[in-house]
Amino acid sequence: MRLAPDLDRLREECGVFGVYSVEGPAAPIVHLGLISLQHRGQESAGIAASDGQRVHLHRGMGLVSEVFNPDKIATLPGFLGVGHVRYSTMGSARIENAQPLVVPSPWGSLALAHNGNLINAPELRTELESVGVTFASTTDSEVIAYLIARAPVATVEEAVEYCMRRIAGAYTVAVLVDGRVLGFRDAYAIRPLVLGRAGRSWMLASESCAFDHVGAEFVRDIEPGELVIIDERGVTALQMLPVERRAHCVFEYIYFARPDTVLADRNVHVTRRRMGRILARESPAHADIVIAAPDSGTSAAMGFAEASRLPFEVGLIKNRYIHRTFIQPDPIVRDFGVRLKLNPLREVIEGRRVVLVDDSIVRGTTSGKIVRMLRTAGAVEVHMRVSSPPIRFPCFYGIDTSSRGQLVAATNSVDSIREMIGADSLGYLTQAGLVEALQLSRDRLCMACLDGQYPTVVPHEETAGRYALEGVGVVHE
Ligand code: SF4
Repeated sequence: MRLAPDLDRLREECGVFGVYSVEGPAAPIVHLGLISLQHRGQESAGIAASDGQRVHLHRGMGLVSEVFNPDKIATLPGFLGVGHVRYSTMGSARIENAQPLVVPSPWGSLALAHNGNLINAPELRTELESVGVTFASTTDSEVIAYLIARAPVATVEEAVEYCMRRIAGAYTVAVLVDGRVLGFRDAYAIRPLVLGRAGRSWMLASESCAFDHVGAEFVRDIEPGELVIIDERGVTALQMLPVERRAHCVFEYIYFARPDTVLADRNVHVTRRRMGRILARESPAHADIVIAAPDSGTSAAMGFAEASRLPFEVGLIKNRYIHRTFIQPDPIVRDFGVRLKLNPLREVIEGRRVVLVDDSIVRGTTSGKIVRMLRTAGAVEVHMRVSSPPIRFPCFYGIDTSSRGQLVAATNSVDSIREMIGADSLGYLTQAGLVEALQLSRDRLCMACLDGQYPTVVPHEETAGRYALEGVGVVHE
């Protein structure tokens, strides 16, 4: 038996949370925040807490509920805290790569949690090694931590500015150092980071849904290229980098973020529903019912059903106890993987023409299995509708889209994909339809995996990826 990822999904990157707590210890708040960000990473979790002097750290492999219990949280005293949930987009899934990472700095121990991917991490790591830094992990996040800790400047603010000017790519970062909590975001604001408040306590999180669970209110997005510093005086904001253009990741809206999150003033559920309505207008289907691939296809399926005036039905039941990383069974029963997670409701499906709405197709193998499953349950026709445009290019900003070779839409036409998955028809949301649904102008979005127009310089595909900082001969889990 071994742990195996579900390779037919886009993989989230990570979630970060930070708090400067005036009313009590930070670790229990960070713990709750991480539980609500669990969908962003299930490989490892960690919390660093401090009373302004010593930093206490606990991290481990697995879900937040597996890594933490009340006894562990009690070992993390202090009013400052940062936490992290991880899916490895750079560096393999092992404990040394779990975050927060703690490194020594001129201002005491520095604990750092990062979401995103740097595109120039190998060069910067080599440079830091040449001046004597010894890395404990193979993540780009440790490069960020040491760039701050070793910056040739006097203050923490200058050190973060120095770091932000050196690193390129996607990053949202929460740091605990010098009795303060810091948050900063790349100049394109590719990954989300938001500021919240509960009384006199201030917080940072990857998604606003985390604030709802800790009784905090959403205050605002951290701006592109901005550093916020939270200390006893409250929040100080400093613009560290000039902003050429924003490039918010469209897949945060399509798939990654929780439906109850608000990104750039747009609720994710409402936005997905709008994608479904536009998809129905662009790619209508003659059918009897609309069902969703649960759960991320649900909001778009509701919109599709509304716009088509078809009933929205529950046609697939999801086993909520099979996580996205699940125990891969014996090869003989490997094909049962999808069946372990999804079961069709024959009473709903049988004799019906079904529209199946999913948020994306990566390799296409899971879609094919679901279509077969629906036919076995008695569907007379299966019309697949996808609430994102075809994914044709790799992502270098923290999403594991694998290489182009694994993206079915990179080398196949829509009709060939339809044939491969065995659907009666297949329709994708267009890029124009997506922009319309997001109600944001095209030049504020990253759609690089859809149209190949990367907002930054990108590395060559073969030298990028999860293991770019790992040596030859390293065995990856
Ligand atoms: S390339 Fe795609 S997945 Fe990556 S940040 Fe851009 S929109 Fe998001």
